[in-house]
Amino acid sequence: MTQQIKKIAVFTSGGDSPGMNAAIRSVVRASAFNKIDCVAIYRGYQGMIEGDFKQMNARSVNNIINKGGTILKSARCEEFREPEGRKRAYEQLKKEGVDAFVVIGGNGSFTGAVKFTEEFNFPVIGIPGTIDNDILGTSYTIGFDTAINTVVDAIDKIRDTASSHNRLFFVEVMGRDVGHIALNAGVGAGAEEILIPEQNLGLERLLDSLKRSKKSGKSSSIVIVAEGDKTGKNVFELKEYVEEHLPIYDVRVSVLGHMQRGGNPTCFDRVLASRMGVKAVDSLLEGKSNCMVGVKDNKLILTPLAEAIKAHTEIDMELLKVSDIMTI
Ligand code: ATP
Repeated sequence: MTQQIKKIAVFTSGGDSPGMNAAIRSVVRASAFNKIDCVAIYRGYQGMIEGDFKQMNARSVNNIINKGGTILKSARCEEFREPEGRKRAYEQLKKEGVDAFVVIGGNGSFTGAVKFTEEFNFPVIGIPGTIDNDILGTSYTIGFDTAINTVVDAIDKIRDTASSHNRLFFVEVMGRDVGHIALNAGVGAGAEEILIPEQNLGLERLLDSLKRSKKSGKSSSIVIVAEGDKTGKNVFELKEYVEEHLPIYDVRVSVLGHMQRGGNPTCFDRVLASRMGVKAVDSLLEGKSNCMVGVKDNKLILTPLAEAIKAHTEIDMELLKVSDIMTI
């Protein structure tokens, strides 16, 4: 696949995450630095199929490093799942004279990219942009740090009202398949218990922990519940369960929802996105393809996209232990 790359396309796909704009900016400016053309594609694979391209230059990405969301919009595109849709996308790229693309997204976006390169031998590099931090081959995805800081900030505020009224709050956070947000934000915000998809801690343990907490004189308690936790009860059912078994508690529920995806990216996410964008362009120019840029031990690395999409990352067991000890 060693061909000279003169024009790179960049786009965002799947769920948006804070820091995607910083990654777009980095790819555009690294292209300009290397004196190659860069086009942006609007609305992910949908825009690729429809030819929704825009020529970029270093100045097209002024004042976006601090902005959440994605200026290129994101979309879910059913057509790209079919060979016919991918063929149409390929034809649009060829018509535009694009030699390679950088896709900023999550697992699904990378799966589409793998199929595309297999079918058309087209140079592709992925940048992990998702708040879930669930992609193999990187310790951090772009947006995760911002999301956990948003959650911690929200919980700090909830705690103010919880302690004023001696209340117990169940706070639902994002994470259908993985508990990274729940676990990290839970430790950071000093949660009483953290319920995650990876482990079923059981309802008995929850009740025991809450009883202990009451006995020890705590004025409020926060329990973080990831969307996909394994107790088999959602936050509202958990509230009813605790009210029934521990009537001493005045229980409230807060579902944080989409606010977790929004907001200005943290400095960590901006720096990570800037580094990954440069690495993506460098990698394409070195003839690499079908890989994802990741960070391990603070060094940028490449992992085959096919590996990155194989499974979710595992939770940090040490963090789970820390959480247990902190709630003594
Ligand atoms: P997030 O983790 O935030 O949900 P994602 O990249 O996993 O992000 P998806 O909605 O799963 O988001 O995928 C984005 C797009 O990638 C889909 O709309 C589709 O166009 C393409 N895609 C996903 N899975 C496949 C697949 N199996 N084959 C081809 N294309 C796919």
